[in-house]
Amino acid sequence: MKCPYCGAEAHLKDATFIYHYARSKQWGKVWVCSNYPKCNSYVGCHKGTDIPLGRLANEKLRTFKTEAHRQFDPIWKSGLMSRKEAYKWLATMLKIPIEDCHIGMFDVSMCQKVIHLCKKQDNQIINEYRDKEYGNKNNKKVFTRGYKNSRTN
Ligand SMILES: [Zn+2]
Repeated sequence: MKCPYCGAEAHLKDATFIYHYARSKQWGKVWVCSNYPKCNSYVGCHKGTDIPLGRLANEKLRTFKTEAHRQFDPIWKSGLMSRKEAYKWLATMLKIPIEDCHIGMFDVSMCQKVIHLCKKQDNQIINEYRDKEYGNKNNKKVFTRGYKNSRTN
């Protein structure tokens, strides 16, 4: 696997390579750009495997992926619909095939679409879940703060 930012080869490493506080067994493996930390790009693996969770992501994309999950996950974690139904809904809204609908595979602009779409869902069940899980105080739009003036595609 090649790094999409610098083109260098990515290598499989123990998660402790990135997360120094991680306990290796618990955190598993990560694919890391060979230019790390100069090129700050990596992706975790599915639990207990060497299979990457998605494409390699730099810090900016990681922030957007985290926020996309934070906005999207309550739609199914709240019990409003099943996980499968939620991804089907998301794929329909994004006009992409369901098999391509993985936040881990998305780039920044796709993550922005997810965040926008999911934030618009003003549903009581979702909102209650969000309040309970993230708290009202933490409901600030954290993700836009550093990136307001750096929209790139
Ligand atoms: Zn790289």
